[in-house]
Amino acid sequence: MLKWILGILGVVALGYYFLVLDKMTYGGTEPVFTLHDGRTYAASLDGPQPVEIRVVQVARAAFPKAGVVTGASWSPHPIPIYSFQVVFEDGSTLIIDTAEDEALAKGLSDDTAFDMDAYQAMQNAMSQAAKIVVTHEHPDHIGGLTLHPQLQQVLDVTDLTEEQVNHPERQDPAAFPEGALDGYVPLSYVDYRALLPGVALIKTPGHSPGSQMVLVQLKDGREFLFIGDIAWSMESVRTGAGRPRLMSWLFLQEDRATVFKQLKALKKLSDSAPEVELIAAHDLGEMKRLIANGDIIEGFK
Ligand SMILES: [Zn+2]
Ligand SMILES: [Zn+2]
Repeated sequence: MLKWILGILGVVALGYYFLVLDKMTYGGTEPVFTLHDGRTYAASLDGPQPVEIRVVQVARAAFPKAGVVTGASWSPHPIPIYSFQVVFEDGSTLIIDTAEDEALAKGLSDDTAFDMDAYQAMQNAMSQAAKIVVTHEHPDHIGGLTLHPQLQQVLDVTDLTEEQVNHPERQDPAAFPEGALDGYVPLSYVDYRALLPGVALIKTPGHSPGSQMVLVQLKDGREFLFIGDIAWSMESVRTGAGRPRLMSWLFLQEDRATVFKQLKALKKLSDSAPEVELIAAHDLGEMKRLIANGDIIEGFK
């Protein structure tokens, strides 16, 4: 009997270790991006340069930290949901990520806080934007777009990638209205794409098929790399510990091994070019630091 109990406990312990604590990964695609190539693409277009980056926090959920960083405690960890506005010297704007509405945000955790003013400011800014992109097709990044009251008008200036459009199951529970994407021509590119002067897209599938990073070089030389959800917390970049298998496999169906390799590549990039600010999509502490430093401005124009 004791043998059986010990055996079952052993299996449970091994399962817990494998799903929640194990930081090892195997296989996966080698990350292909380099900062050098991203910079080359970002600098390849002439025109008005980006001069500032703005942010609104539309919602704030909370997950157990053990689901955010492998090996972390089960204490609640804030998951802010942001939208970013890049302002160019001619006053034109680019929106990066479109958050989601109150109903979708409240589905993330019981105690999600929602800022209706920030959501409205973002929706207004989307109507005025020269360009809109999302780091990936998950609902907390694409939801504000799918729910936009002037969807056809904003889709005219939105560059969704082929992979983002072709994976509606990853957008769930957000969804474009029936027929909204009829005739929409998605962006198709290999590895890198110059988006606007000073702005490049870098393809990084793994967290989702349509994941990409956005490199922004401001006119004054400051550089920002929006890494989307490759890491929810910059701690994952610093330590190499991404999400545990439990989160990656059961909830996200992400290619965890590829994400871990991307985390390593980002750590290397950050060590060799510390002047580049990496922006993880849901890191409250980092965002507070960037705002306090004046690198990112709170509120949209
Ligand atoms: Zn996200
Ligand atoms: Zn995501």
